[in-house]
Amino acid sequence: MVSKNQIWANEPALGAVYTQAEVDAVLAALHESMDPHIGFRAKNREMIFEDAFGAYCGAQFAIAYNGAGTALDMVLHCLDLRPGDEVISGALNFVGAHVSVIRQGGKLVLSEIDPATLNLDPADVERRISDRTRAILVTHMNGMPADMKALERLAARHEHPVFGPPKLIIDAARACGAEDGEGPVGSRGWATIFSFQSKKLMTTLGEGGMVTTQDVNLAKRLRRLRSFGKNEEWGSNYKMTKLQAAVGLVQLRRLDAMNMKRIKLAQQRNELLRHVAELTLPPEFQGREHVYYRYALLVPPAWAGELRNEVMLTLNRNHGIGSIVADPPTYLTHPWIREHIGSHSLPLAESVAERLFCPALHPLMEHEENESMCEAIIATVQSISRTAN
Ligand SMILES: *Cc1c(COP(=O)(O)O)cnc(C)c1O
Repeated sequence: MVSKNQIWANEPALGAVYTQAEVDAVLAALHESMDPHIGFRAKNREMIFEDAFGAYCGAQFAIAYNGAGTALDMVLHCLDLRPGDEVISGALNFVGAHVSVIRQGGKLVLSEIDPATLNLDPADVERRISDRTRAILVTHMNGMPADMKALERLAARHEHPVFGPPKLIIDAARACGAEDGEGPVGSRGWATIFSFQSKKLMTTLGEGGMVTTQDVNLAKRLRRLRSFGKNEEWGSNYKMTKLQAAVGLVQLRRLDAMNMKRIKLAQQRNELLRHVAELTLPPEFQGREHVYYRYALLVPPAWAGELRNEVMLTLNRNHGIGSIVADPPTYLTHPWIREHIGSHSLPLAESVAERLFCPALHPLMEHEENESMCEAIIATVQSISRTAN
């Protein structure tokens, strides 16, 4: 028998919710494009989507890309890194972000994380900052914004002799629609990168990305770079399609509602799991300071590794609930990153990753369903607790 929960046995392949409005938008854009005098060129739709997204984030400029990966590549390219220039980033991360730093010629310097948020620990960043530091790549892990104020202050304290304070580049691939305590994610730092890949909080038909910035020169350069450099410099084709932009506009209008569903489900989990002594729950907020792209739990230090794996296995096997470790230190999973950073370890990041698991969360989950998932988590933790003692 397939239990109802079985549908959440894996990480949801589509993070957003699609409705008839998205279907209508695609069809309208498709019909329009079939005219040989119009075609599929994104031009106007792309502009409308960019303007709407920029306004939503409180950013002066928004530049659409075909993915967050290429967008981050090009933002890093705009740093014009010289050999030995350093970029600091949190050890728990999406591998793509670190691959991008290395590919663009940066020396990747990994920093420890705050175990409560999985985000960069500003104090540890400050210890690792040097006169070669050109940028701090800040990933808002799993939908929770990092401590931007602290990072801005420390960047200002450590001016590079030629290039000024290290640039804050924010990877908000998982934090579209979140707020960082001062304002919307996307309004701060040098550049913020968003992803509209299929699993993310909103999606433009499975792939897509956006950069927001307040820097007019960066915006101009990013526009050139996605269009073969517009005869002024090197470039390639990183453009979003018209159909993607049309759907993006619809998804953006519904983003707050989709995020609110996630927030409500996470709050319900916090409420139901509060008394489980073995579990460390994600920090709580009232507003959109965490949009719960993923709901992260920590098991006790004594359960690190083996018993954490047992929890995940039992949840999946006995209850049809999928969970993932998001994310382990990138240098443990990607051999190139390991080779690049050489032999050093980040013990805190490694130990937290061994205790971490994120049970599936999706805006289409019903509250009753969420409740039975919590009951399953409690039963599983209790059974592991008995074997552990
Ligand atoms: C998904 C993701 C990316 C890459 O986004 P794409 O649009 O798939 O290229 C980058 N960083 C983080 C943190 C992500 O979660």
